[in-house]
Parts: sequence; structure tokens; C-alpha cells
Amino acid sequence: MPTLIPHWIDGALREGTSGRTADVTDPATGEVTGQVALASTEEVDAAVAAATAAFPRWRDTSLTKRSAVLFTFRELLNERKPELAEIITAEHGKVLDDALGEVSRGQEVVEFACGVPHLLKGGFTENASTGVDVHSVRQPLGPVAVISPFNFPAMVPMWFFPVAIATGNTVILKPSEKDPSAALWVAELWKEAGLPDGVFNVVQGDKVAVDRLLEHPDVQSVSFVGSTPIARYVYENGTRAGKRVQALGGAKNHMLVLPDADLDLAADAAVNAGFGSAGERCMAISTLVAVGGVGDDLVARIAARAATLRTGDGRRGCDMGPLVTREHRDRVAGYIEAGEEQGAKVVVDGRDVQPDGGGNGFWLGPTVLDHVSTDMTVYTDEIFGPVLVVLRVDTYEQGLQLINSNEYGNGTTIFTNDGGAARRFQSEVQVGMVGINVPIPVPMAYYSFGGWKNSLFGDAHAHGTEGVHFFTRGKVITSRWLDPSHGGLNLGFPQNA
Ligand code: NAD
Repeated sequence: MPTLIPHWIDGALREGTSGRTADVTDPATGEVTGQVALASTEEVDAAVAAATAAFPRWRDTSLTKRSAVLFTFRELLNERKPELAEIITAEHGKVLDDALGEVSRGQEVVEFACGVPHLLKGGFTENASTGVDVHSVRQPLGPVAVISPFNFPAMVPMWFFPVAIATGNTVILKPSEKDPSAALWVAELWKEAGLPDGVFNVVQGDKVAVDRLLEHPDVQSVSFVGSTPIARYVYENGTRAGKRVQALGGAKNHMLVLPDADLDLAADAAVNAGFGSAGERCMAISTLVAVGGVGDDLVARIAARAATLRTGDGRRGCDMGPLVTREHRDRVAGYIEAGEEQGAKVVVDGRDVQPDGGGNGFWLGPTVLDHVSTDMTVYTDEIFGPVLVVLRVDTYEQGLQLINSNEYGNGTTIFTNDGGAARRFQSEVQVGMVGINVPIPVPMAYYSFGGWKNSLFGDAHAHGTEGVHFFTRGKVITSRWLDPSHGGLNLGFPQNA
């Protein structure tokens, strides 16, 4: 019997009452393992009501007490993260090591948020005008919504909620309906860490829940991560409803390999960053741009490495797991077919994979398509699977132009031994996160994560100081304590004296 996967509202599991559910599958076996509740608007309202009721007390809880809860949460997470990794692998399919890596990267944001007393320190100016002092504070927004994608069911929500909670907000998380259980495990952990009921809530659901969160008058902000069309929709509708919105979208990340690069290092990096998590990472390298004749040599080295990868059940120590659903697996395979028809050369074909896993798993092995051009759909579209496409250009300038002309600007990387070229690249490329001989340049928690162009709608990136600013409003206080020398009428605009 598939398990029923409920909501978490006001500190307790709540069974779904909408009558609507969606299947949750184990991608390595194809088996339906759960039925996730899909919230009605009333259920979303109940979660928002819990978050609204919990807000005043949490906002007024001292920074010492708030950060103590965060420290406890961090300790529990660190001790028990293998449990969370297993839940991720069972519903997402990524291999256990990778699931553990995802939790560790999320944990870094919790550690960053433990320093909230320091992060919220304001400025103070004594005697800005005679007898007048000025200081600034940052205050929480209220109930905030986080809407996350399937590919990082633990890490992506953790880009937001530790900072939101630490700064005094209350949270309604709507995870992906494809892998909803990680969020419930996290909710239980918060409770164990001593977070008051109602500060962290989980509503399971689909578009109905998202639309209600976007329009609900008590929801102050929306942090969204997902595909570009939905990110744009969330940004437009959320801002129209007067909310603060950060909406992170899709990606097509290019790796530029200059002729002087160490080709073994570049080939290792392309394979790791192209096929890790079966290419279902927003920072995956999906496009390799070989400059000045290194293409043949580089593709041969990549193909040799790809042939050694073991695709299979993430619990069996394989290198790469299945894709998240059968539908997604077939969509990615469709792109490989289209690429072949449009003239790309299939150098490594993942459709022939012999997986170490269940016969009904959603398998597709590593795939390399060479001689791809910019008009092919394998280049124009985000594929989000284990498909690496290779383009060739003659010069650095042509490579740079290719990257800068792309609609996405999430991550990119350059492989070279020429410091001057790398320095030029970091300055000239129109992308939010840049690697230099580093294939997946995901920023540390104390920097901020976010792309440019169609990879992010809104102004604030995730975590780091931008995250703190996103989840707080600034206030500046100008004060004068009466002393007998002041007084008198003056209708002029306040001026410093
Ligand atoms: P998705 O856009 O299908 O879903 C994301 C969220 O939106 C989910 O919670 C889903 O339930 C909800 N949703 C889906 N359809 C909706 C609709 N019509 N109206 C309102 N809400 C809707 O994305 P996904 O397939 O879960 O995740 C993969 C995508 O996320 C890729 O495009 C990937 O690049 C992107 N992503 C981006 C980043 C980043 O940092 N930029 C990080 C991770 C994933």
C-alpha cells in the first residue's frame, strides 16, 4: 500500500482533506511508494493562519533564544543526515552520496544562519545633528512562502528557511509534489530542536497551492525555485499581489575550454558536472564549448570516462541514478532523438544503458552529443538530464559571445591555465556564478546564490547577506532625547545642524 504523505501545519502532521493526491514513485524501481496530498485553498489558508498566529511571538523571541534553536537544529541535522539522504534517494533517485552532499550544502546555510545576531546588527550614528542620533534596524516580514523544485528536496528549501526563521519570520514551505517527504522529516526535526509550533509549516500541493500562496494577503514574500516559465509566472503574479519575490529559474550552463587547459582536468570536470545527479542540477554543466581545435581530443577523453560510469539504483553504490519520473526520462530521451535528427553526432548513447537497478526504473545513461549547433533544440532548451552537448568555436571571443547570447545566466566555468584569459572571462561573462577551473561554482552560504537573465526574476539572490536583506525590512530611527536647550517652532524641512 502506498503511504499517504500529509501536510505539516502548526506543529503536527495533517492529513489531506482536498480529495486530491498525486503518485510519488521510487525512480529506481518505478514503484508507486506514496500518495501525496494536494492542498486545497482552505488547507493553504490553514497553514498561513498558523504562520500568522505564530509570528508575533517568534518575532519577539530574543536573538539568543532564536539562535539557540538554530544551533540545536544544526546539531540534530548533522547527526541524523543519513536518514534524510535515504528519503531523498528513495523519492528523487540520486545516489546516496550525492543526497548526503546536498544535505551538507543545505546545512551550511543553517550554520550561516546561526550567526544571526551578528547578521542583524544595525548601524548607529551619534550626534548626526546636534543632540540627534540615528540608528538602523532590520525587522522580519511576517509569514513567508518557499516553493521548491524536485531536484534538491532538502538543499533548495534550506537556501531560504534557515535565514527566514533566524531573522524572525514564519514559513510556509510548498515542496515539489514529486519528492515531498524530505520536508516533513525536516519539520519534525525543527520541532525536536525546540522551534515553536506554527513557525515552520509544510503544505503539499501543486498549482492550486502555489496560486493561493501568491494571492494570500498575509503572505509577505515568495521565494521560488523551478523552471523559467513557472518562475516568471510566480514573479509576475506575486509582485502584482504586492509581495516581495525572488524567483530562481532554469539554466543552460556552459563550460568554456581554452586550448591551453589541462584536458584531463577538463574532461573529469565535464563528466562530474554533466552527469552528477543525472544532470538534474541547476548548476550542471550541460554545454561544453571547445575553443581552437581541442574538440576532438576533449570529446574522446570525455567519452572514455563516461563509458566507465555505472548507472543504477542509488542505494547500490552506483555513480549515477535514474531520472525522477518516467515522463521526464522519456522527454530527455526525446531530446537525444531530436538532436540526432537535427545533425548532432551521438558519441555516447545513454539510451543503451544497462542499469544496475529495477527493470521498471526510469533509466537513461550518460549521453554526449557532439557537433551541436545553436539552432538545435538540444542547445536551445534546458534538457535537465544526463546529456552533455558539445559545440566548437575558433576563438575565446566567439565562445564568450555564445554564452552571453544565451537566454540563461545561472552558472558558467572556464578551463584554462591563462590567468589573464580567466580574469577577462570573469569580468566579461553575463552570468551570476562563475567558476575558474571549477565546474560547479555553487557559492558558499555566506555569499549569495543566484543567476542572471532568465535564471532569476527579482533583485535578491538566495542566502548570504542578500538573503538576510530579502527576509527583513530596513528601518531607520532618528531620535532626540529632550534636553532643556531644545525647543521652539520651526516649519522648515529638517536640516542637520
Ligand atoms: P517546476 O517549475 O516544474 O516546479 C517547481 C515548483 O513549481 C514545484 O513546487 C511545482 O509544484 C510548482 N509548479 C509546477 N507547475 C506549476 C504551475 N503551473 N503553476 C504554479 N506552480 C507550479 O520545476 P521542477 O521540474 O520541479 O525543477 C526543475 C527546474 O528547476 C529546472 O528548470 C531547474 O533548472 C530549476 N532549478 C533552478 C535552480 C536555480 O537555482 N536557478 C535550482 C534548482 C532547480
